[in-house]
Amino acid sequence: MHDLIEVIGINADNCLNCHQCIAVCPVKICSDGSGEVVKFNNHLCIGCGRCIEACIKSHFGVTEKSARFPIDDKEAFLASLPEGDLVALVAPSAQSNFDLPKLITGLRLLGIKAVYDVSLGAEIAVECYHKVIQSGTFKPPLIAQPCPAIVKYIELHHPALIPHLAPVGSPVHNLAVYVRSLHPDDKLVFISPCLAKRREFQDSQAVQFNVIFQSLQEIFKEHHIELSQLKDGDFDNIVPAGITTNFSSPGGLKQSYLHKYPETPASLITQIEGPIVYEKYFNDLERSIRKGNSDLPLIVDVLSCDQGCNMGAGCINSHKSIDAIETAVISRAEASSQDKTAAQKRQAFLETSIKQLDFEYRSYQDLSYLNKLKMPTPAELQQIYKDMHKYEDKDFRNCAACGYNSCFYMAIAVYNGLNKAENCHLYQEKELLKEHKALNDMVDELEALNLQLEEQYHERKRQEQMLVQNSKLAAMGEMIGMIAHQWRQPLSSISTLAGNLQVYLDLDMFEKDQFIELLTDINNHAQYLSNTINDFRHFFKPDNPQDTILMDTVIESTLTIIGKSLEYKNVKLTKEYVFTQTILTYPNELMQVFLNILKNASDAFVDNEIAVPEIIIKGYESDGYQRVEIYDNGGGIPADIMDKIFDPYFSTKGPGIGTGLGLYMSKMIIEEHCRGQLEVRNTDQGACFTIALPSLMDADKRGNLNSDR
Ligand code: SF4
Ligand code: SF4
Ligand code: SF4
Repeated sequence: MHDLIEVIGINADNCLNCHQCIAVCPVKICSDGSGEVVKFNNHLCIGCGRCIEACIKSHFGVTEKSARFPIDDKEAFLASLPEGDLVALVAPSAQSNFDLPKLITGLRLLGIKAVYDVSLGAEIAVECYHKVIQSGTFKPPLIAQPCPAIVKYIELHHPALIPHLAPVGSPVHNLAVYVRSLHPDDKLVFISPCLAKRREFQDSQAVQFNVIFQSLQEIFKEHHIELSQLKDGDFDNIVPAGITTNFSSPGGLKQSYLHKYPETPASLITQIEGPIVYEKYFNDLERSIRKGNSDLPLIVDVLSCDQGCNMGAGCINSHKSIDAIETAVISRAEASSQDKTAAQKRQAFLETSIKQLDFEYRSYQDLSYLNKLKMPTPAELQQIYKDMHKYEDKDFRNCAACGYNSCFYMAIAVYNGLNKAENCHLYQEKELLKEHKALNDMVDELEALNLQLEEQYHERKRQEQMLVQNSKLAAMGEMIGMIAHQWRQPLSSISTLAGNLQVYLDLDMFEKDQFIELLTDINNHAQYLSNTINDFRHFFKPDNPQDTILMDTVIESTLTIIGKSLEYKNVKLTKEYVFTQTILTYPNELMQVFLNILKNASDAFVDNEIAVPEIIIKGYESDGYQRVEIYDNGGGIPADIMDKIFDPYFSTKGPGIGTGLGLYMSKMIIEEHCRGQLEVRNTDQGACFTIALPSLMDADKRGNLNSDR
């Protein structure tokens, strides 16, 4: 196998897998985008250098970070320098990259023994092309071959065009042949804008080193040679080049040929450069030749780089404007072609050289066997399209985002293991949509779950509400007893007063003032009964608004309900509380809590046969809380049930007597509804319940009470 010398280096660590190198590559199949980084097959690469520029762009213009870099002969050239046997051949594009006369001096300073202008080799090329065409032995079109990337492309991908490659050396080859006749034992170095020339020299062996402008700039820096400080130098050419100093510009060959042979119709020379050469031109040309079309050109002036060699991959002039670059080259060509005497000498030189030296070049080879692209069967192709999520016409976007120009070409690359379905833009878009849909489904599920939780929460709240109400109803029976105690004294007073009235009537001791006094007393007692009923009714009302209230008021309201009952049971009640700040609370619920605790204490006195029952209610404010402590001397809570007394349905009162909800509800009311704390502990004589509720200001800071109430 023909081992193509490398011109592109890869630093895989720097690869971003952006596929820009594939997008700009005329060959495409020389890159393998099937992995995490893009790999590179040197044997299919034509050395055009486009991928380097694209890669640098992908790295925000930082050359050092680029994954792709040029390979030339800089190191071997430097190693050879001390031997003093190097002769430099300078490309015409040097004019737009360096100050040419100072560059010549700089090269000599490096130790180069002679410096020649490759434009002179271009003069030889034009002369030879003309002779070949005139001879009638060559079947047009003649494809000019100064561009080695184009030559390699034809060898690899359009072998049918090989017979049309000019049988004449490139300008540098021709000059090398001539310079070799002058310096038979010296080594030649091409000072060049072109990476692919390394490949041409590998084939021709005419030149030993290819050193690109970028490397030369580095070499000058490393040798502390500042070109601007140098005197002008001149080429060692025996005659200066003329119009062909423009050879590095697009169409340079065409202009030179027409300048020298003005009788040639311009329409017979096609000038073409850039990506279209690869994308269309050669396919069309091959087809036209095959068909024998009458519009075939005589000469094809073709270059790989859009701006010709003036802005080749190894150049250092990307900071300059295209006008500045072109003007530098063309104005030199204009000046060079003015001198008539020089032109005569040059013509004489060309005729002699062509007679004496051999500028023929036929080292072209069919390398298409390296291009082992396999084609999928229609079924295999359909499967690849399926893998790429392409099912209908609109899925074939041919958007080139994968780096290939069409979905079909991408599918071929996938089939050949050079790319993967996942790299298709549409595939990624569809996968993203799938993920998006999955996310949306998840959101829907979460929303449904949320709704369910909300419903469960409301159901729980409703059940709690019912529990509160049930516990109130359960307490109703007890309340009836309390009402009876409340009413006993006023009813008995009313009965006595009514009896007195009756006696006065019977005895006919009727006195108006006395009657009014007794009736007023009866009325007061009746009013008291009515108020008592109102207190109970208010307590049992199911709606339960929040209110800002003093803790004293809630305690006092509770005592209007249960106070008489305690009194009847001879319970000594001591009140030691002072509150100055209000609380935001549910007064009825809080009353229910106080009632539960006081009722439990009252029951404990009976159960434990306490002779002198006593309840002390203490209240004070501390640390932003209002605290109420209710002490009793009922014997306390047994240690084994202490941690259960707030559990729902836990009761010590035996079946049918207690609901087991009183303290559970109390805990829930204080801690969940009112954001406070309810705790219990035993004292020496009984139990002490402590209720702590945030004062209004502190409740605000804590974010108010439960807002759903
Ligand atoms: S040098 Fe040209 S042919 Fe080679 S990989 Fe780069 S772009 Fe492709
Ligand atoms: S241009 Fe190519 S080599 Fe450079 S980072 Fe992108 S994928 Fe990698
Ligand atoms: S749709 Fe996909 S396969 Fe087709 S060109 Fe665009 S990225 Fe490449």
